[in-house]
Amino acid sequence: MIGTFEYVRVGSIKEGCEILVAQDKRAVALAGGTDLLVNIRNTGRSPDLLVDFKQVEQMNDLVTDSDAGVKIGACVPLNVIADNRPINERHGALAQAARSIGSYQVRNRATLGGNIANASPAADTAPALLVLGASVNVEGKDGSREIPIDELFTGVKKTSLKQGEVITDIVLPSLGSQVRSAFIKKQRVRGHDLAIINMAACYSPDTGMLRVAIGSCAVTPILLPEVAVSMDEPIDELVKRLNVVAQDAISPIDDIRASAEYRRGLVPVLLHDLIRYVLSPGGGRR
Ligand SMILES: Cc1cc2nc3c(=O)[nH]c(=O)nc-3n(C[C@H](O)[C@H](O)[C@H](O)COP(=O)(O)OP(=O)(O)OC[C@H]3O[C@@H](n4cnc5c(N)ncnc54)[C@H](O)[C@@H]3O)c2cc1C
Repeated sequence: MIGTFEYVRVGSIKEGCEILVAQDKRAVALAGGTDLLVNIRNTGRSPDLLVDFKQVEQMNDLVTDSDAGVKIGACVPLNVIADNRPINERHGALAQAARSIGSYQVRNRATLGGNIANASPAADTAPALLVLGASVNVEGKDGSREIPIDELFTGVKKTSLKQGEVITDIVLPSLGSQVRSAFIKKQRVRGHDLAIINMAACYSPDTGMLRVAIGSCAVTPILLPEVAVSMDEPIDELVKRLNVVAQDAISPIDDIRASAEYRRGLVPVLLHDLIRYVLSPGGGRR
């Protein structure tokens, strides 16, 4: 049984933020509703007012530019991101992560802004955004500001957004055409299931630097320190090296999806597949 609440659809970010601020904690932002409405139904607790930003034009823009990077409105549905050609070509990890979420129907409603604002440790787009060096633009009563994605997640379902602030868009920096990124997810079943672990990696042949991020293994998704990769180093050695860092950084728990021990055991397995893919486009590396 779903509780009762008021609903208002806004036409601009300013209008929505003013309502959120005026209502204080009694109102929350609504985008696709695939987390929020499920949560209201499951807990039987609802805010007094849902402020629907989904029709705000500016939050539905998706601008790709090979020099300037990509700007994705917070309310752009995940299917649009999954199918966007420049994102697939230049920021593959995000397209793959978006495609892995829920079902086609869920992805038609679910938004990128909602996935990160919800701040689940298992949010699939989070590791991809972390390795791609994304930032989010937010707006609130004190104006607008930019938050690097690694400063957005502060705990389980907690972010550094202030009361009344909304994410307006997500920005991905331009990456060279040689940069290769990928996302991988282990779930109990194919289809509608959150990740036991998810992971993304991004490798730049120009700088020789590799970034890896891991989700569902701590209270927030975790970006590991960037590592320099030598092409002489066998993949197995690199995986061992990264696994030591990763095991130190994560603090997985036992839950309905898997035990902490199983999650720890999966880390080197996923690292191996992911790193092999980003370092060796043809699949030929040792
Ligand atoms: C069947 C099913 C399967 C799913 N599978 C997956 C999965 O595999 N992986 C995964 O990561 N998730 C999954 N989800 C969760 C959900 O679909 C995603 O997290 C989705 O991206 C949430 O986006 P939304 O637009 O629906 O957010 P909403 O439900 O509208 O909002 C979620 C939260 O974010 C806040 N919010 C929304 N937009 C903004 C904004 N612009 N600024 C500030 N706050 C905002 C809301 O107030 C709310 O607290 C699944 C959900 C369902 C129902």
